[in-house]
Amino acid sequence: MDDSLTLKQRDLAALWHPCTQMKDYGEEGTLPLLAIRRGEGVWLEDFEGKRYLDAISSWWVNLFGHAHPGINAAIRDQLEQLEHVILAGCTHEPVVQLSERLIRLTPEGLDRVFFADNGSAAVEVALKMSFHYWKNRGHPEKTRFICLSNSYHGETLGALAVGAVELYRATYAPLMMPVLTVPSPDCFDRGPDETCADVARRQFVHMERALAEHAHETCAVIVEPLVQCAGGMRMYDPEYLRLLREACDRHGVHLIADEIAVGFGRTGTLFACEQGPISPDFLCLSKGLTGGYLPLAVVLTTNEVYDAFYDDYEKLNAFLHSHSYTGNPLACRAALATLDIFANEPVLERNTRLAARMQTALAPLQDHPHVAEVRQTGMVAAVELVQDKAARTPFPWQERRGLDIYRHGLTRGALLRPLGNVGYLMPPYVITEDEIDFLAEVMAEGIDRATGV
Ligand SMILES: *Cc1c(COP(=O)(O)O)cnc(C)c1O
Repeated sequence: MDDSLTLKQRDLAALWHPCTQMKDYGEEGTLPLLAIRRGEGVWLEDFEGKRYLDAISSWWVNLFGHAHPGINAAIRDQLEQLEHVILAGCTHEPVVQLSERLIRLTPEGLDRVFFADNGSAAVEVALKMSFHYWKNRGHPEKTRFICLSNSYHGETLGALAVGAVELYRATYAPLMMPVLTVPSPDCFDRGPDETCADVARRQFVHMERALAEHAHETCAVIVEPLVQCAGGMRMYDPEYLRLLREACDRHGVHLIADEIAVGFGRTGTLFACEQGPISPDFLCLSKGLTGGYLPLAVVLTTNEVYDAFYDDYEKLNAFLHSHSYTGNPLACRAALATLDIFANEPVLERNTRLAARMQTALAPLQDHPHVAEVRQTGMVAAVELVQDKAARTPFPWQERRGLDIYRHGLTRGALLRPLGNVGYLMPPYVITEDEIDFLAEVMAEGIDRATGV
């Protein structure tokens, strides 16, 4: 280590950052690299003592703020007892307790918990389990998956294959398994007299047709319930989930709900599926599961699925899938401490008030000449920038307008990180109403800058 170099210089000499064109941060780059020294509540602090409000919950993982005393204490306590143990052939109190509590909290019928250590891995588990279930039940011809346009389920090859955000997927397309992609019920595309529920019913026709034609060779349909987050915070009506559950049952196809981003209160209910209300055959959870502290993921499924794998070893029907840090005790304790907060505090009621404040604070942007839509589901609010408001023509992506919002946010002490031309607020649940007003103000200023108003 060379003491004459700053942390940023050392970083740029040694690291390769996720989801980043590194040249943006190099000598000719125009983006600053934030060096964060500490975090507390919704705030992050750099080495000069400048504070940034974490408006995006550090990539949607943080629920109750940084350095939460209760979660900190739980991890410290666990550290003195057991940091990790193999989960094949061994068990421990935190992993059992967490499984029991997740079974109680999630929609009915999800009675088995399989552990992984990140969201993409959870999606891989659900895909493999669904395929393997049908194989064990005598249907090896079921090999395909159906997903929605604009969907995102992670970056590993299987998860990427069932996604449809071309920015992430196109380069690797030659490596992907073939998937059936059906037009999504995105309410952004509603007609003048249509409600979001109308759009859901109209668009479901495509899903019904795909199922009618392909159910015999299809393992599962995978969706992100209610909000397609990585796809630009596009939202749809719960009616689609109801129709989908009914059709999957009728056609003999599994339903995988990827609530990795929207689970744990983000959409207003503890799980988005409750708004159907539906129970999926597989529920993938990660991100907020540990309150944003440690990598952990779970796939919940039914005993009907579990039973298809329960057999004599020689039949070779077992689910031989594992990850080294599966069910890590420290991560499980962070998750239990997070669930304690939901149990002991009126989190969802508080969020209703905070969500209403987000709506009020962002509402004026609806009249902005370059805003096509301000939309919101619970604690996710998004503002879609366009070049032409009437025709909804997007700004050319090459102009990277969203980055102007990002840069402006940093100068004002807000970490806003738009997805292309979509600015959004997805803050930790411990944000105050004043802080929401502050973020909306910074967002509005940033949008003026980004659009030259
Ligand atoms: C983030 C995300 C994933 C992937 O999770 P990772 O932990 O980043 O691998 C999958 N699905 C959805 C909906 C996500 O938002």
